[in-house]
Amino acid sequence: MALGLLVLAGCAASSDADATGEGAEALTSADDAGKVLFVSEPVPSSCRAGDDAARIRCLLEARYVSDPAARALALDLHRTTGGLPGLLPAQQIDGGFRGNIQLVPELPVGGHRKHLGWVRDAMQEIDRFFVDLRGPSGEALRYRWREIDFRFFRSVGRSTPSAFTEGTWEVAYNVSGSLVSSGPAVRETLFHEIFHINDWAHGEWSKTLAPIVSAIVARCGSRATCLAPYAPTKTMVRGGTYYAFQPGTGSMTMEYAAELATRFFEEESAAMAGRRRGEPAFKCGPAENRQVWALLVSEFFGGRDLVPACP
Ligand SMILES: [Zn+2]
Repeated sequence: MALGLLVLAGCAASSDADATGEGAEALTSADDAGKVLFVSEPVPSSCRAGDDAARIRCLLEARYVSDPAARALALDLHRTTGGLPGLLPAQQIDGGFRGNIQLVPELPVGGHRKHLGWVRDAMQEIDRFFVDLRGPSGEALRYRWREIDFRFFRSVGRSTPSAFTEGTWEVAYNVSGSLVSSGPAVRETLFHEIFHINDWAHGEWSKTLAPIVSAIVARCGSRATCLAPYAPTKTMVRGGTYYAFQPGTGSMTMEYAAELATRFFEEESAAMAGRRRGEPAFKCGPAENRQVWALLVSEFFGGRDLVPACP
């Protein structure tokens, strides 16, 4: 999400028929699971028998055979959220001003196992969040948070990018990423990334916010004091401004929207738990905030907003 996060834009997933559901009908086939878990390595022949569910379990057990504690986390992640913790193929990416960055596949086992634990916990919390947000009616939201796969990697000699998405229902996760340093930080990073995928699946919905974001930036430039009331999160770029308004991130509006969604997650979670936050609700700030909040809630979250009305 913030400094160190790379977003590869322009990969709209709008042709995916399952794009706007919760992922329940998008169950990964055993063949696809083999690719996520083993990439170009041969898939164990012992996992060729049985139905898809049995084969995927077998593949997960084989992938994590070296670390029983990680294997338990991997199986639990898959059982509860449908996601698979796999590997990113080795690749070199253009890190902009950071130059080329080498990414190598790295399984979250041994010293990296904590990352798998944070991902499992984050995805289960995000799942509980949406179940609660939907409420007793169980009405489907036009948002997908289940069946998200993970591609673990390590950046050689770097701590960036921490996580990124490429328009598929997968999040690439860097076990040496600077932002993925605690459970809450991982939860926030994953929520931000998963929002990007949903945004693309809605035909880059965030573009509808562009006139509002442009007007704010026209007024404030990159002056943090001027931008503060409009910034959905406090994340700043080192030597720069609020991440939501940082020029040169690929698409400012896209990042602003993902930060706005993350703020939604934080505020609604607090409202559900009856917890007071130390700052006023985002929608109770300037008129622009109220406007974008309403647009976001209606597009993705079924109009459900549990944050109390403004005084
Ligand atoms: Zn982003």
